[in-house]
This record gives sequence, structure tokens and C-alpha cells, in this order.
Amino acid sequence: MFLLADDFWQIKATREKGLGVFAKKEICAGIIIGDYLGKVIKTADYDLDRDKKGLFLMYFTDQASIYPNLKKPGIHLLNHSCTPNCWIYIYCGHSLFFALRKINPGEELTISYLLSPKDETCNPCTHICKCSSKHCTGTMHLSRDKYEKWQKFQNNQKKKSKKIKVVFGKNLQKLTSYPKTIPDNPIYSLIANI
Ligand SMILES: [Zn+2]
Ligand SMILES: [Zn+2]
Repeated sequence: MFLLADDFWQIKATREKGLGVFAKKEICAGIIIGDYLGKVIKTADYDLDRDKKGLFLMYFTDQASIYPNLKKPGIHLLNHSCTPNCWIYIYCGHSLFFALRKINPGEELTISYLLSPKDETCNPCTHICKCSSKHCTGTMHLSRDKYEKWQKFQNNQKKKSKKIKVVFGKNLQKLTSYPKTIPDNPIYSLIANI
């Protein structure tokens, strides 16, 4: 779900990555783009190989994931980039997307899918990155070094975040309130190459 007002973003077709989300107005650093809402499903029950529509599964707890409603526009439409301008912030167990830096009108909003380092379980790997940034690694998988740094940081974040009730099969509901902006942290620019 977008938390950014409708006149700030639009959904357009990209050249190689299907649909994408683009800024219509300038978006300031730290501004929240949206909350990743959807159905709470058991991660173990989900067959990743059969899902040809894209990478839409979002981590919720160690057993649960969020699967968004693909019929509605939402922040699940943000494409992956090796130099993303948005990042994920865990708030009350929810994954909020926020602007890492100022985003100019016309720019595509991007995120890192933060895929674990490529190993034999991802074979054949279809996670080819076409972000065309100068830091593009050609893959959506993070390097082991960056992935481990990110995991460590996120585990600390999770400890600080409120415990969340998991109800499988139910839709994750919008929170009653959201922070106005997300504070910067050096780890973001380290992993985001900005
Ligand atoms: Zn892969
Ligand atoms: Zn890339």
C-alpha cells in the first residue's frame, strides 16, 4: 500500500523490467513510500519456483511472509536496483519502504530485494539485474559481505521492533499511525552503493 499521496507517484511500463513506480514530484529523503501489506502466508508452504509473476514475497517473521494483492497498485511494484533510492525499515513488524535520498520527478523508485548470496539452491538463477546503474552486479543476489552486514543490522532492528501477532491466511492491516520520516543510517548507503 502506498502511504505517499497519489500525486507523488505513477505506475508506468519500464523497458525491460515490466511495470515500475516513478516519481511525479520531488520526494524528500526519509519520506515513507508505503507499507508492504498483503496476506500472511506460511513461508514453507510457498512454492517459489511456481511463481512466475515476480518476486513478491516479503519477510514477516521466521515462519511467515506477506504476499501482496497483485490486482491493486502497491509498493510491491518497485523494481530491484543495485543502487536503489528506497530502502526497507521495520516498524511494528511491518516493512515500510522509504526514500533513501531525494528522488527527482521522473526517476524510477527502486529497492534492493536483498536476496541471499547466490548458491546452489538458486539454479538455474533467474535473478538477473538490469538496473543499468554503474554499480550493477548483474544479479539481484547480494554479496556475502553485504548480506551478512545487513542481516546483523536487521536482526538488531527486529529486536527493537514490537512483537507482532501472526494470523496465517489473514490480511495484514494498515497500522493506526506511521512515523513521519525515517532517520538515515550509514549502513543504507554502504549496501545501496550511494
Ligand atoms: Zn538467483
Ligand atoms: Zn543492477
